[in-house]
Amino acid sequence: MNMRQKQLGIFLSKLKQFKDPKAWAEQHPTEPDIAAEVLWFAYMNRDLEDKVVADLGAGTGVLGISALLLGAKKVYFLEKDPDAIKILKENLDLLENIETPTHYEIIQADVLSFDVKVDLILENPPFGTKETHADRDFLEKAVRYGDIIYTFHKQETSEFVEKFIIKHGFKATHHFDFAFPLKNTMPHHKKRIQRIKVGCWRIQRINL
Ligand code: SAH
Repeated sequence: MNMRQKQLGIFLSKLKQFKDPKAWAEQHPTEPDIAAEVLWFAYMNRDLEDKVVADLGAGTGVLGISALLLGAKKVYFLEKDPDAIKILKENLDLLENIETPTHYEIIQADVLSFDVKVDLILENPPFGTKETHADRDFLEKAVRYGDIIYTFHKQETSEFVEKFIIKHGFKATHHFDFAFPLKNTMPHHKKRIQRIKVGCWRIQRINL
């Protein structure tokens, strides 16, 4: 791991987290090291610098804040939960101390109303466990408004994701495997933290 990726991970680990994650919104944050790994990869791949980026379902902002730190021209943070947005704003305030150009806009709305054309979309959307097709709404917006997309999904839905990508004229160029901790809400379970397999796909429009 190189120094800047490590520093990014350390900075991200200082961000404030969801105080009371909401089950209905499937608030499963991307862990700092995972965000640092994916975003550093995006940076090295020239997907970030001087690009206009949207972080859909931004939550507390870990993905979009990484993009700002690594030189994105502008980041749109879209999130529908006002409590998450409060924390997101506190996290964005931390950037002011480190002289990062902070060109961003917060959109408090449902993903269904997103309509800004951007270069790059970052999203760790609801996995569709609580609300079926929640992840499909995010993917639909991503393929419509982005040319390059980094999108996280439960590994067990990979067939759906890969078919969706192809059907919409995109191809997957990279895939990352992670294990996300999910806090266990079932009192009878012995282990407090369960991990689920999550993949992150980098996809791009075929005729780009
Ligand atoms: N991107 C953050 C948060 C991931 S959790 C991270 O990687 O850490 C998913 C986020 O999507 C939550 O903050 C949740 O409130 C938000 N969300 C869920 N459904 C949404 C919808 N329909 N429109 C907009 N945001 C939504």
